[in-house]
Amino acid sequence: MPITTTNPVTGEVLKTFDALTKEQIDAAIGRSVEAFRELRGTTFAQRSQWMRAAADLLDKEQDELGALMTLEMGKTLSAAKAEVTKCAKACRFYADNAEQFLADETVDAASVNATQAGTRYDPLGPVLAVMPWNFPLWQAMRFAAPALMAGNTGLLKHASNVPQTALYLGELFGRAGFPAGAFQTLLVGSDAVEDILSDDRVRAATLTGSEGAGRSIAAIAGRELKKTVLELGGSDPFIVLPSADLDKAAEVATTARCQNNGQSCIAAKRFIVHAEVYDAFVDKFVATMSALTVGDPMDDDTDVGPLATEQGRTDIEEQVADAVSKGATVRCGGVRGDGDGWFYPPTVVTDLTTDMRMYAEEVFGPVAGVYRAGSLDEAIEIANSSPYGLGSNAWTNDPQERDRLIRTLDAGAVFINGMVTSFPQLPFGGVKNSGYGRELSAAGIREFCNLKAVWVGEGGDTGVDSKTE
Ligand code: NAP
Repeated sequence: MPITTTNPVTGEVLKTFDALTKEQIDAAIGRSVEAFRELRGTTFAQRSQWMRAAADLLDKEQDELGALMTLEMGKTLSAAKAEVTKCAKACRFYADNAEQFLADETVDAASVNATQAGTRYDPLGPVLAVMPWNFPLWQAMRFAAPALMAGNTGLLKHASNVPQTALYLGELFGRAGFPAGAFQTLLVGSDAVEDILSDDRVRAATLTGSEGAGRSIAAIAGRELKKTVLELGGSDPFIVLPSADLDKAAEVATTARCQNNGQSCIAAKRFIVHAEVYDAFVDKFVATMSALTVGDPMDDDTDVGPLATEQGRTDIEEQVADAVSKGATVRCGGVRGDGDGWFYPPTVVTDLTTDMRMYAEEVFGPVAGVYRAGSLDEAIEIANSSPYGLGSNAWTNDPQERDRLIRTLDAGAVFINGMVTSFPQLPFGGVKNSGYGRELSAAGIREFCNLKAVWVGEGGDTGVDSKTE
């Protein structure tokens, strides 16, 4: 994939970049190692000060940065600006909490025949971060803020269609005061990932992206015995039960499906509606989806901009066509408009069956698949039949149903009467084909740390039979 800024509103290529050479990549990894040596010796207080300075820069540059993201991948300008604010908050969250999350812990020293015993978290070193274009700042920040606060350094291989946002990120932390080389952008294609991850100096990798990219990176990391965190695709269920507030559910369902022009891993994608309220909910949902304004993402009135790439639009068109050819019904949308750009209208598809691609695949655009469930059991069964397990939404005012859903949905998150979103305070990640490991919260910062056991005694006698481990 060429490294270019291409405006998805017009399809026009605005800027093209050369990929780094092998020598340039080698030098960047060397700088990352140097920066790691320096960074791991700094205090939390120092790193917090730099991280707060990065947050201040984001706040100050919100307008330009927001416009840049909109230009490169088509999200609405208001959403892009909100993303910048969210990133500044995450920087401050880790500036405030990293020290506590990574504090040394003690265990009862006598119980292990020591005078002092416990654990500490050490950073691992340079970490490769392979990131997607859909939240081009936020996805990278979810890695960068905790990683740098832990004392790791970062090498960002961003998606090839957001190079200018990537370059901004590559400068940000140095401008905020972090040592040169602590966080660098490598403008490279995905074909360079194997060599970078195989380099002994790179200690771990995180990927946010598709299932295919996840399998590839996990295979390389497995061969190289390197720790990975994988944040992959999702096909989140949105279950609507009879006690739900249907107006509110339809309104939130529309936002949950069409946020970020339908291109969010945690967008609600499968709407599973109890038969008792199926017709009423679907009518309301079709009305709210149809009422959205599709247009130029720079305009304040626009709700849904273009898909980020031409291929992305082709993919959802093919998924809808496949469903229709097998008997599904398009209740609204379903046909792209005339004109330039990769626009696709908010679409609701009903009468889906298990043989359709939409049933099992992730649909990465503003297309909602609706399923009818005869009971709570059937709703949970449909929800859990997906190969993915990222987030899950359920709407009910019945406490017993709520408890059951919280316990039985196979997903990394369950949101009752609200839409799945990410908070720095809560862990984020998935199960099944949505990947493994967690970002955000205390769990996120600990992923790329060495949890070191510390034992201090007098004379080396651990009190344990030397024939055991
Ligand atoms: P993608 O094609 O997998 O690309 C993501 C990143 O991986 C890009 O930097 C890409 O580089 C690189 N890449 C692609 N194939 C690779 C390979 N075989 N080996 C190494 N690197 C590779 O995904 P996308 O289309 O950008 O993003 C959409 C996907 O990301 C969706 O499935 C979405 O659900 C998922 N996502 C998940 C989360 C989460 O937190 N779980 C969040 C956001 C998005 P190039 O651009 O150079 O190809």
